[in-house]
Amino acid sequence: MKTLLPTSTAGSLPKPSWLAQPETLWSPWKLQDAELITGKQDALRLSLDDQLRAGIDIVSDGEQTRQHFVTTFIEHLSGVDFEKRETVRIRNRYDASVPTVVGAVERQKPVFVEDARYLRSLTKQPIKWALPGPMTMIDTLYDNHYKSREKLAWEFAKILNQEARELEAAGVDIIQFDEPAFNVFFDEVNEWGIAALERAVEGLKCETAVHICYGYGIKANTDWKKTLGTEWRQYEEAFPKLQTSKIDIISLECHNSHVPMDLLELIRGKKVMVGAIDVATNTIETPEEVAATLRKALQFVDADKLYPCTNCGMAPLSRQVANGKLNALSAGAEIIRREIMGK
Ligand SMILES: [Zn+2]
Repeated sequence: MKTLLPTSTAGSLPKPSWLAQPETLWSPWKLQDAELITGKQDALRLSLDDQLRAGIDIVSDGEQTRQHFVTTFIEHLSGVDFEKRETVRIRNRYDASVPTVVGAVERQKPVFVEDARYLRSLTKQPIKWALPGPMTMIDTLYDNHYKSREKLAWEFAKILNQEARELEAAGVDIIQFDEPAFNVFFDEVNEWGIAALERAVEGLKCETAVHICYGYGIKANTDWKKTLGTEWRQYEEAFPKLQTSKIDIISLECHNSHVPMDLLELIRGKKVMVGAIDVATNTIETPEEVAATLRKALQFVDADKLYPCTNCGMAPLSRQVANGKLNALSAGAEIIRREIMGK
């Protein structure tokens, strides 16, 4: 990446109202069959257009082709019964009715490869594709087959690697794994979570990223955040091991969070996608607010390794707010670019 401070988003962007109910997670599709396929592609083009108009450097599909960042991937695998549901606690935070693992999990065919190929055909900009991480995947299922979180995560890592290799071949520049679970299960992260992630990136030549956040701006998450106190030091647990891992980029929540910025020192040397946009509020940041977050991050991240980004996905926001935030991100990054070049 030659651009200084290349901007990107953590992942999801709002869907148009003709495709799915806006400002809702897990929103059901409004179209069916062939119309749904075309509708998703149209939405992907719109989402890409919004990012390009806002001057975002590393673009994505805005996750227009999936209902949810974890569930949609799992729906494409065999071994999971979506009819057989059990209630489990997701990331120790809220109860949800989840599908059951009933047999060996396998990927029978590519999941997002066609969509990635389509995005690749539409733009010359670097593209990033998000996949769920193994630990976050196991946390949204009831496992009645492997009966071991580690074993199931390892199987998912192998499947993710198959998908990632094909995404790379389709021209994806950065493959990102979303692991919000890394902020919750600290012992497991260090025992096998990061190892499973490294299994998922095995043999890849494209860049790889891990996104670790405090979740979408939904009530269960904002309530949980209120219990975390004034200093959020969760990243401290996974950072030392991530610093020595094979993962190239670490994507983090920073702006408006209580994460002490000096924790970034623990991953010095890695590229860092610094969340400079709060996704849990409708208030659009000013470019100066974005710049202030990036300026702080620059004390701990070398300028050539700093990637301005959003804290998390923006699917639950209105399109108008999300576009405003994309513009603010670009404008804020530009302020810092000028400061660096002026030195
Ligand atoms: Zn996130």
